[in-house]
This record gives sequence, structure tokens and C-alpha cells, in this order.
Amino acid sequence: MVKIERIPGGLGVDGLELRRGKCGCGGGGLDCCFTYSKVKREGDTIIYEGKATAPSTQQNFEWGYRVHKDNVVVVVKMEDTKDNKDFFAGSYPPSIEAWVERGWQVDENYERPLEN
Ligand SMILES: [Zn+2]
Repeated sequence: MVKIERIPGGLGVDGLELRRGKCGCGGGGLDCCFTYSKVKREGDTIIYEGKATAPSTQQNFEWGYRVHKDNVVVVVKMEDTKDNKDFFAGSYPPSIEAWVERGWQVDENYERPLEN
């Protein structure tokens, strides 16, 4: 059985952490306000969505993966950038290697350019 537990700000899955995050600046329209990470659970599927891009970023791309172990599935979608992203207010998901080390199977693993 894969252990899924609530942790502060997110979920712990098989000992790995998926956390929500958003900026606390009050929504002033700064770069940070466009970034976040979200975590939700739908049955045995855990979905993480993150966004580190902002109007100031140009070298944007998306990456993600889908892994499973027993009947539990983790889907990660990240809208990321190679530009400066010090303002990213979310929390990065675990690397895919961390899942594989714990015996998870990889269903999908991708990185592709993102059109602005
Ligand atoms: Zn902000």
C-alpha cells in the first residue's frame, strides 16, 4: 500500500512531498502573483500543477510526468522557465528520479517548449 498523508500545505505520498504555494504579496500584479503550485487528490490520483512563469519570463517551457505504484497515480505538470524565477511562490514537485528510486513506474515524462 502506498502511504498518502496530509502534511502542512500539501500531501505526502510514499514519503515524498507535494506542496501548494502562492505569493503573499496581496495580489499587486507583480511577477510572483502569476506563480503558484497546487495539489489535489481525486481518489487514488494525485495531481500537482505548478507555474513559475510570469509576464517577465521568455524562455518558457513545460515539463511533467505521470508515475504510478500499485493503484496510486501521481501526475505532475509544471509550466517553467529558464529565465530568472526567484519570484516563484510555489513549491517544486519531487524529481522523477525520486519516485523511480522508490519503485514507481514511469508512464510519461516530457519536456517541451511553451508558446507565450
Ligand atoms: Zn505576488
